[in-house]
Amino acid sequence: MKKLFLLLAFVLSSCSQNHPTDKILFQTPLQDGQLTYGQISPNHKLFIENSERRIGEKKGFFEVPTQDGRFVVGIPQDATRLTLKLQDEKGKETYHFPVQKRKWKEDIVNGLPSQKVQPPKEEQERIMHEYLLMRDKRKVSDYPQFTQDWLLPLERFSRISSPFGSRRILNGIVTQGHSGTDYAAPEGTAVFAAADGKVVLVHPDMFYTGGTILIDHGFGVYTNYCHLSRIDVSEGQIVKAGEPIAAVGSTGRATGPHLHFGLSWYGVRLNPEDLFKI
Ligand SMILES: [Zn+2]
Repeated sequence: MKKLFLLLAFVLSSCSQNHPTDKILFQTPLQDGQLTYGQISPNHKLFIENSERRIGEKKGFFEVPTQDGRFVVGIPQDATRLTLKLQDEKGKETYHFPVQKRKWKEDIVNGLPSQKVQPPKEEQERIMHEYLLMRDKRKVSDYPQFTQDWLLPLERFSRISSPFGSRRILNGIVTQGHSGTDYAAPEGTAVFAAADGKVVLVHPDMFYTGGTILIDHGFGVYTNYCHLSRIDVSEGQIVKAGEPIAAVGSTGRATGPHLHFGLSWYGVRLNPEDLFKI
């Protein structure tokens, strides 16, 4: 909480000049790809444009869930501003906050089997099915506890083999920014839940991500763990931060054993490494 107040001066200076406000406070700098915690008055309501959630079909604004005025929003990679609507005693007002653009790495990956880079036609249906499965699980975030305590999700790792946001060039084909952080680690290394939450999806073998777990941490925040060689939890299970849930592997589209650790806010993919700096 005290961090919120320390950052008050920062927020006031970074607000759009037309709409300075001390009614919305942020705990972290506003950067693209960032999960951001904030605070409003417990009596106020906060809204964000539905398109910013990346999973909303409807146009218009979506109410950001709050707990005692605390809230979380995810700022998409490459975003240049954050637009929020605040409802207070006087009515609704829109605020624009400038977002600092970060530089993301370019990553060249060669030697992947060609059918994994350009999936064969007969796999398209499977890939679409798995995509929709993940997307739908991220629509309803109902874990009730608001958490800010994050732990590294694995026992040990040798290096970050691919950071979040890096544009991957797979066998010469440019893809979208990397959706998570890859931690290179030996096969069988223990994988932990990064925070308290509820396991909402377990899949033994997805086309891209192999053995996969998705955890709902509430307030729109999800983490996913991919390429697992073993899964020790089941759907619906409540897990605690640091609890072992799986083992590192190289299932799905992977060139070697590593943990792909993903962070998202209602489908907006975010940089997981930021969690350990909050
Ligand atoms: Zn990855």
